[in-house]
Amino acid sequence: QSYINNIEQKNDEINAVISFDREGALERADEIQQRIEDGSAGKLAGMIIGIKDLICEKDKQVTCASNILSNFESVYDATVIERLRNEDAILLGRLNMDEFAMGSSTENSVYGPTKNPVDTSKVPGGSSGGSAAAVAAEFCTASLGSDTGGSIRQPASYCGVVGLKPTYGRVSRHGLVAFASSFDCIGPLTNSVDDAARILETIAGPDPNDNTSSSRTVPNYTKFTENLDSNIKIGVPEEYFGEGLDEEIHKGIKNKLNELEESGAELVPIHLPHMKYSIATYYILATAEASSNLARYDGIRYGHRADIEDVEKDLKEEKEALEEQIKQAKGDTKQELVDQLNEMDSSLIGLYKKSRTEGFGPEVKRRIMLGTYVLSAGYYDEYYAKAQKVRRLIKQDFTEAFEEVDVIVSPTAPTTAFDLDSNQDNPVQMYLNDIYTTSANLAGICGINVPAGTHSNGLPYGMQLMADAFEEGKLFNAAKLVE
Ligand code: GLN
Repeated sequence: QSYINNIEQKNDEINAVISFDREGALERADEIQQRIEDGSAGKLAGMIIGIKDLICEKDKQVTCASNILSNFESVYDATVIERLRNEDAILLGRLNMDEFAMGSSTENSVYGPTKNPVDTSKVPGGSSGGSAAAVAAEFCTASLGSDTGGSIRQPASYCGVVGLKPTYGRVSRHGLVAFASSFDCIGPLTNSVDDAARILETIAGPDPNDNTSSSRTVPNYTKFTENLDSNIKIGVPEEYFGEGLDEEIHKGIKNKLNELEESGAELVPIHLPHMKYSIATYYILATAEASSNLARYDGIRYGHRADIEDVEKDLKEEKEALEEQIKQAKGDTKQELVDQLNEMDSSLIGLYKKSRTEGFGPEVKRRIMLGTYVLSAGYYDEYYAKAQKVRRLIKQDFTEAFEEVDVIVSPTAPTTAFDLDSNQDNPVQMYLNDIYTTSANLAGICGINVPAGTHSNGLPYGMQLMADAFEEGKLFNAAKLVE
């Protein structure tokens, strides 16, 4: 009831929650209360969890904050949803996001932007901005987000909460709407490292419905937050603390590192020489995968469909105009116009085009164009194939570094949360927000944002810890030392 009150009082302004089931949640709370009393309650009893609007929940709208899915309801539960329910979590509502998880500010949404609860003139980060803001505003205890290039960690940093991107394959993607399939990960945003460990323990593990999910057994992650080891080796990569990083954030993280050193950690200077290519590599590969994944939204099988009568009317007008021109034209021009007439779209192709034109927002269209370009004959080798090779080098950098250290530390984002509307006209500036986060997705390793301090501008900032694949335990241990 307390979370519901918060939503009712503050969500009009924050706009983190798209929809929530008041009655359903209260009924479920009663049921779980009963189980707590008779001792049969699951591990997450008492946790109220919000879900980013790209994870399928049976009989609920799953829109990805896109007009193209505005009328889509899922017919099944994602694996993570089943697992949360089985442990008695209460799934309170659906959370705002950048359309199809493309963005760093939660401004690319059909529902309008989410605002940062710490300062409502600022963005909450993105694309899981609704998930971060909902936790920060106490609309829920925790939330699930997705991280393809930083979308859990960066908004967690901007809103002052914990955000975990697990290792690729640690958590099933069954029921997660795909953005870039070789990058996408589901993970928790929480107020504490303990909660993140508890949720990961619940949602992780093999799943026959996702053949990229790892068959490794799931460790008891909470154990790592209980018996802390402060004698760890922390890699400090010079490349992550250079130009572009806010001075105060830089100093704040260095202070945290000094504290860790005093309590027994060893700081090891390391190098990740290919880090400077991570943004370029990420935006080539992620858009390539996105352009392919988004091909399924054609207005026929599901989602928004343009009005067929409009399509036919437009085509008819276009045809008549061409026929008129042909009558008047001569020679080569005439032939060109005849060719044009012969190549005119069928009404089916016209319907696909108009549905997609109406359904997708500008950032999604930009990604589809970029992605199809880098995959097209003639450019494939130059961009896509080359980026795959660089991805390998970036992964290699991490593999070598983790032979020496337990975790690697970096800022999560170069600045604190920026003003709403300040980056919307400058996609490249927006992409630069992901400078410290995309490399973990390229390498498939795990990373976490832990709140690290408050800037003199009053806004929170976080630091990122990264560990090798399937070493979430080390992350939780280190994160808890920082917390
Ligand atoms: N900001 C990045 C992008 O726009 C990351 C998004 C994500 O992790 N989903 O692609």
